Amino acid sequence: MAIPLSRPPVDDEVKAAVIAAVESGQYILGPECKAFEREFAAYNSAKHAVLTTSATSALWMVIKAFGAKAGDEVLVPSHTAFPTIEAICFAGVTPVFVDIDDTYTVDVKDAAAKVTPRTVGFIPVHLYGHPANLPAVQELCAKHKLWLLEDCAQAHGSTWQGKKVGSFGRAGAFSFYPSKNLTVMGDGGLLVTDDDEVAARCRRLRDHGRQNKDIHVEIGFNLRFNDIQAAVGRVLLRRLDTMNDHRRKLAARYTAGLAGLPLVLPAETRGARHVYHLYVVRTPQRDQLAAFLKDKGVATGIHYPVACHRQPAVEHLKSPPLEHTERIVKEILTLPISAGHTEAEIDEVVAGIKAFFRK
Ligand SMILES: *Cc1c(COP(=O)(O)O)cnc(C)c1O
Repeated sequence: MAIPLSRPPVDDEVKAAVIAAVESGQYILGPECKAFEREFAAYNSAKHAVLTTSATSALWMVIKAFGAKAGDEVLVPSHTAFPTIEAICFAGVTPVFVDIDDTYTVDVKDAAAKVTPRTVGFIPVHLYGHPANLPAVQELCAKHKLWLLEDCAQAHGSTWQGKKVGSFGRAGAFSFYPSKNLTVMGDGGLLVTDDDEVAARCRRLRDHGRQNKDIHVEIGFNLRFNDIQAAVGRVLLRRLDTMNDHRRKLAARYTAGLAGLPLVLPAETRGARHVYHLYVVRTPQRDQLAAFLKDKGVATGIHYPVACHRQPAVEHLKSPPLEHTERIVKEILTLPISAGHTEAEIDEVVAGIKAFFRK
């Protein structure tokens, strides 16, 4: 049987929640949205949670709410999903691309070397589900008075020394895209913050810059969320820790099964809780291995094959090369993992990889 890269958790409880929301007659920023915001804020120990259409929207609203303006520079790892960069550009500020370390998250030494008088903020990305080096990030931000916005789109429930990601900076952004650790069966996103002004400004930006029913005090956009999807999010939020535990169990099974093969396996820094949004391995024979597995019905992915600083959309920034990023993008391969995968499926993938290296 074919093994997909990810399998969203659809079941009767999720379906019942959708039907109930449909029958409620309230569809936009209604009771389900309000409850989901309250519950997510409690889960993440945040004062505020603001639902929106995607993590891209959440990142954009937060950058706007921080008051960033043209000419300002924001430090960001190049090795991320392009939306992280897009949100920065869409807010009218300039991304400054930073290299990564062995955890595939931002190399804070390289970030420090790229601070200029125009730098206003830092957006570390907890890529693949592993927290970035948060103590070093916080230290750099404090030293240069930079705001800190965590991109947690791949890291719901991930922690550093027991504290949830998204609670280390002034705000954190999450995505509910179907393959993410927490989904709403479609697009969706959310930001968390303890800052009353940032939360209020984001709520306003999300709803046409509206201060009240009739008065628009700034140009926002329609980035509101809906109750049908919020109902799904509420059901799955209750299962998030269990789903992450399952991902961790599957990751441990991969790591044990693949030990000794000529592959670089993911590692977990001491103090970090990796939630394995993705299980990424590395080999110079990446393309051959992917083709071999595809023949056996095993889907794989590459996250991401083209580094963001090399994307045509930001060519005009003429970003300098990033040694580590450019090397690993040719070697990384994402293996199937999600809360919906079984141990037997992981064993099948491991057997396929062993067969490849025996050839
Ligand atoms: C998925 C993702 C995003 C974008 O999330 P959307 O909800 O699809 O807008 C941003 N950053 C990272 C790291 C992501 O993985």
